Amino acid sequence: MIKRNVLLNPGPSTTTDTVKMAQIVPDICPREHEFADMMKKMRSDLLKVVHADPSEYTSVLFCGSGTLNIDVCINSLLPEGKKVMIIDNGAYSTRAAEICEYYGLPFIDLKFPVDERPDLEIVEKTLKENPDIALVHTTHNETGTGILNPIREIGALVHKYGAVFTVDTTSSLAMRPINVHEDNIDFCMASAQKGLMAMTGLSFVIGRKDIIEKSKDYPKRSYYCNLFLQYDYFERTGEMHFTPPVQTIYATRQALMEYFAEGEENKWARHTRVFNAIHDGLDKLGFKDVIKREWQSGLVVSVIYPNDPNWDFMKIHDYCYERGFTIYPGKISDMNTFRLCALGAIDAKDIEDFFVVFEEALKEYNVAIPAKYQ
Ligand SMILES: *Cc1c(COP(=O)(O)O)cnc(C)c1O
Repeated sequence: MIKRNVLLNPGPSTTTDTVKMAQIVPDICPREHEFADMMKKMRSDLLKVVHADPSEYTSVLFCGSGTLNIDVCINSLLPEGKKVMIIDNGAYSTRAAEICEYYGLPFIDLKFPVDERPDLEIVEKTLKENPDIALVHTTHNETGTGILNPIREIGALVHKYGAVFTVDTTSSLAMRPINVHEDNIDFCMASAQKGLMAMTGLSFVIGRKDIIEKSKDYPKRSYYCNLFLQYDYFERTGEMHFTPPVQTIYATRQALMEYFAEGEENKWARHTRVFNAIHDGLDKLGFKDVIKREWQSGLVVSVIYPNDPNWDFMKIHDYCYERGFTIYPGKISDMNTFRLCALGAIDAKDIEDFFVVFEEALKEYNVAIPAKYQ
């Protein structure tokens, strides 16, 4: 029996015991055929998660956390003399802009308020005025706030102007249904510890083969994090270029089996139950969230700190943590918030149990109920 913690942070997520135990395997050298066969199946299973046609799309595995994928896509997919545009309404898209900065790439950081969806007219105008934009990147579920960006509409514009569209789907993939064809996605990405409910250390990019093959001749800006290099090595040998996260890959194999057994629709319905239970609990206690309800991704709720001298996030966090529930600080620079997330192997009952503890914590520290706002 492994103690079960309910993680309400935005990943890693609560996992099943079967996924945890799948890591306990006989020692194996990952250069063995047996291991390559497992990764081959995994690469094709990942395409199925986003309904990608295997004749057009491929998936490429990397050892690292999800940020590596953003780095890989941006540094690998920009042709010489061209520009990147980041559609930026939150912390994770800002991270992509920072990656451009670190590589010294020409880029436009098209900023929008963190609590609003990108203005498509401005997106189109910027594309029209800058024909040298070859790569457009944004975030699907902006995990910093929980706003859902209209990627299908953005993707259509990106393609109208002949650019490539990369989408950070780290906090939506394998939760909210994604179809790369209908959603106009050239490249998407995630890490195994989020929607798939596996372990940390494995990340993957799913994207168009023809574009990856074209990128062979683009400037090489990184060695470890080059998309073509890793793809080409997989295609030629079936292996990761360098040492893979062996045990995480076993856990991910199990997690994918459980993903397909639960099914895309049922899983999304479960996350939705959890999300609704989070809102019910917050509403009852009078807490307010940041993002307009109809714009929320259904996966992250960003909650505003009450205006109460007794409110101390860390004290409330510690009280809940000691009782098996992890809550998480916010990621909005000019507003004090915390986050409750709906990912992982949890259901509405876990959220009801959480709110019993959360309410106890508020009472313990004399925080007013309903929460006070001015
Ligand atoms: C979690 C997450 C990442 C990756 O963050 P790491 O700290 O590298 O795991 C990237 N983008 C989004 C939208 C995320 O939610």
